[in-house]
Amino acid sequence: MPTVLIRTYGCQMNERDSEALQCLLRERGYVPTDSEESADVILLNTCSVRDQAERKAMGKIGILKRLKRRRPEVLIGVLGCMAQNHGRAILEAHPHVDLVVGTDRLHEVPDRIEEIRRGTGGLVLTETGGRDVLTRLEGHEPGRITAFVAVMRGCNQFCSYCIVPYVRGREKSRPPEDIVAEVEALTRQGVREVVLLGQNITAYGVAEARREGACDPRQSAFAELLRRLDGVSGLRRIRFTSPHVLFMNEAFIEAVCSLPRVCKAFHIPLQSGSDRLLRQMNRGYTTADYLAVVDRIVERVPEATFSTDVMVGFPSETEEDFARTRALMARVDYDMAYVFRYSPRRGTAAAAAVDDVPEEVKQHRNRILLEDLETSVARRNRRLVGRQVEVLVEGPSRRNPSRWQGRTDGNKVTLFEKAGPLQPGEMAMVTVRRTTSHSLFGDLATEPPDGPPTPGPGN
Ligand code: SF4
Repeated sequence: MPTVLIRTYGCQMNERDSEALQCLLRERGYVPTDSEESADVILLNTCSVRDQAERKAMGKIGILKRLKRRRPEVLIGVLGCMAQNHGRAILEAHPHVDLVVGTDRLHEVPDRIEEIRRGTGGLVLTETGGRDVLTRLEGHEPGRITAFVAVMRGCNQFCSYCIVPYVRGREKSRPPEDIVAEVEALTRQGVREVVLLGQNITAYGVAEARREGACDPRQSAFAELLRRLDGVSGLRRIRFTSPHVLFMNEAFIEAVCSLPRVCKAFHIPLQSGSDRLLRQMNRGYTTADYLAVVDRIVERVPEATFSTDVMVGFPSETEEDFARTRALMARVDYDMAYVFRYSPRRGTAAAAAVDDVPEEVKQHRNRILLEDLETSVARRNRRLVGRQVEVLVEGPSRRNPSRWQGRTDGNKVTLFEKAGPLQPGEMAMVTVRRTTSHSLFGDLATEPPDGPPTPGPGN
């Protein structure tokens, strides 16, 4: 049986694509392997969003050259955003690469591999085309409690620093009935939690409605999708990422705050606390708009948790801009944040500006935000000591298999000693005994609590 190794770089959408591709290849008889030495096919599913991610994948492509010299029969493919972004240039710079396939053609990979292996296809380049066609990649690996489900692809926002609209194309949403059918099938296989994915997920269905002249900004097709999924039997939790403040209207907030299976953990990308920079980033909202959405959610669900993406070192970012970002982050009191250092992406609007914030200043600002976050998350977690939190049980902890692990609604990793016949996928109550900034540690509660679990900042 031929073996395949897929290395994934970047975001959850790429993880999802790799999983679905693995399923397609499995159907063709390919067995997954972790060993580069023995793999017949090595596929790198790449990311272009940040310079660092590109450099990592480029480094790997370079390393694979030695492997190809020793084992010329191994087939090497570069897939995803970098393939879309650089196309033929990858083949020209790295002749040991056999296959370059962009984001919209991933479903063709098994056929292309077969052609190359039969010697009928030679080098195949499929980095463009099919931009208006929604790639069908729907297979899931069995045995999981949590599954990623892509509900839409692409983005129409064109934030000035972002390569996504260029490499993932314009927004394309899947029909709701397809998504509901996929989630129903997943729950029949034992999945208890779905993470819905879309580059701008709150714009789900908007491009299609606009084309039909039926777009009502007071409505939210994504909220309607959540309502339908909330009724899927056997499903315990629904998460989603990433929303955009511009599309978080009242209909959306009402749905996420009221639907019982939708987790009240909100990942809302901020990017900057400076209105001047938000304008330059073409984010389409102000800090006041952002805070209004947060406040509206907290009003409805005081125990909601928030996480974000934030960027430091965008061109012309001053100490004052940075101080505003810091202050806004303190005001929201996030439970988690991904902090990124700006790197220009060729072809984006911001790349025309001088990247004038020195790298050491970017690193310093990055470090300060992470330190702030560490302190505030530790403080927020400490407030949970002595309380009961409800977790979705995932199974033995990977770091310490003597402990079991679950997650709260607020997405906090919770570790506890397993007791009784508890199985992955079940819900359990855990009394929190101690916390760090990363995890909660506790004991399984023997008695169910009176009424609903105590609301807390991490629950
Ligand atoms: S909303 Fe902006 S940052 Fe997010 S994917 Fe679209 S263009 Fe990129």
